[in-house]
Amino acid sequence: MTALAFTPVDDIPKIIQELRATFQSGLTKPLQYRKEQLKGLHNLVAENEAAFREASYLDLHKPPMELMLGEAGMVKQECVDAIKELDNWAKPQKVKGTLLNRLDGPHIRKEPLGMVLIIGAWNYPLNLLLAPAVGAIAAGNTVLLKPSEVAPHTAALITKLLPVYLDQRAYRIINGAAVETTLVLEHKFDHIFYTGSGSIGRIIMAAAAKQLTPVTLELGGKSPVFVAKDTDVALTARRLVWSKFYNCGQTCIAPDYLIVERGIEQELVKQLRATIQEFYQGNPQTSGSYGRIVNNQHYNRLMNVLKRTRGEVVIGGHNDESDLFLHPTIVLNVQPDDALMESELFGPILPIMIVDSMQQGIDHVNKGDQPLALYVFSKNQKTIDHILDNTRSGSVVVNDALTQFVVTSMPFGGTGPSGIGNYHGQRSFDIFSHERGTLIKKQAMEKVNNIRYPPYTEKKLSWAQWVLYDKKKYAPNAANPGAAAAKAKL
Ligand code: NAD
Repeated sequence: MTALAFTPVDDIPKIIQELRATFQSGLTKPLQYRKEQLKGLHNLVAENEAAFREASYLDLHKPPMELMLGEAGMVKQECVDAIKELDNWAKPQKVKGTLLNRLDGPHIRKEPLGMVLIIGAWNYPLNLLLAPAVGAIAAGNTVLLKPSEVAPHTAALITKLLPVYLDQRAYRIINGAAVETTLVLEHKFDHIFYTGSGSIGRIIMAAAAKQLTPVTLELGGKSPVFVAKDTDVALTARRLVWSKFYNCGQTCIAPDYLIVERGIEQELVKQLRATIQEFYQGNPQTSGSYGRIVNNQHYNRLMNVLKRTRGEVVIGGHNDESDLFLHPTIVLNVQPDDALMESELFGPILPIMIVDSMQQGIDHVNKGDQPLALYVFSKNQKTIDHILDNTRSGSVVVNDALTQFVVTSMPFGGTGPSGIGNYHGQRSFDIFSHERGTLIKKQAMEKVNNIRYPPYTEKKLSWAQWVLYDKKKYAPNAANPGAAAAKAKL
């Protein structure tokens, strides 16, 4: 497979101008056209699964099962759902009117935004580029795709296949790193959808602000896992080993660290060890079910942070830079100020913080940024409710992890520093659509309209008040005890 060729910088303005002109020509607006293109996107993935397997093996040593579950399968499903639901999603939506304009059919037209930019990340290089593209195409936009150069084989494959399956007039790719992306960002888009780290997210948002371009930012964070004393430890260990070491820990919603109630930590470590042994058949390096760190830079970043920990490495130790292999690693007795707790790990290292109560864990989580995901393992509903009611995060799963990603009817995204906006399913369509408030008035009934025209009179004022303003709504009542009490005092 060839290495990734970056787009010559002189070509960038021309590509963008062509996409803008195509949008203005109206080519991408008809629903039938959008459906045809979505079929093309579906087939791009479906007809080239062997090639995607090879590319993602070269990029990340990704097992075919993980490619299917977390990438190819999801993109295909998003295409199928969008084709099936598009008429429904795109149809004008009726809304309630006031007495004055009820006859004018107030409604919302779902219209494409225009020309949009999607910037993908390397850890799920197929999904994070093409799943948002499903929403952008379905909504009738022209789309510029910018794959991550850190997963060059997948980026090169998508670049080769895109013109075969999709209309080049409307959907294009630009390849490159910071230099090329910076040049792209100098242009005006109608929306930018970015997935990646918060530090680059800030650069993207600053560039977008110059053009007043709205953004969706899918970022990361340190996603905690609460493990309560009452949990089934063996089951918890199985679900944690799967979710933490999936894609070698390089998942935005991977469990970042455990908050374990004192008393079960030794049993948990024992079960984690047994599960790692079972899942990777005694040797993760030779197992076909375990990935690799994406490159030397990330490998060294992880090794450096591991060297600085004051916790006890209870599982792991055998690592091999020549193969970018980092053994599933568990570190016990990690303190809140440990090196492993400084920022998102994004690799197969799982620190365990021991707490005397779940409340201590809640206090710790609330001192930091809102994470992208939060997980709880417990059989006790009160414990679960208490943790959920007293924390914030992009999403939550109880008694599992990662599985929220595939429920496309749920919003997927962060809150605060873990992201802005969310997508999947219909939400992806909505992100890339403009809700155009629309009234269609008849050239009739001018007498009724006379109420609002000058010269204004007391009579017109009281009519307008009666028509537009429903006093009953604001009367003090049991649902508004504060107002009732205030009135009683007067
Ligand atoms: P990355 O290195 O692939 O970067 C993301 C994109 O930003 C790439 O396309 C890259 O070319 C571009 N980029 C890099 N430098 C740039 C610059 N100076 N100016 C403009 N663009 C630039 O990915 P990453 O940042 O290493 O991704 C890892 C992070 O992404 C983690 O924090 C992870 O949690 C987060 N992430 C979030 C999600 C999500 O869905 N919320 C998914 C995956 C990853």
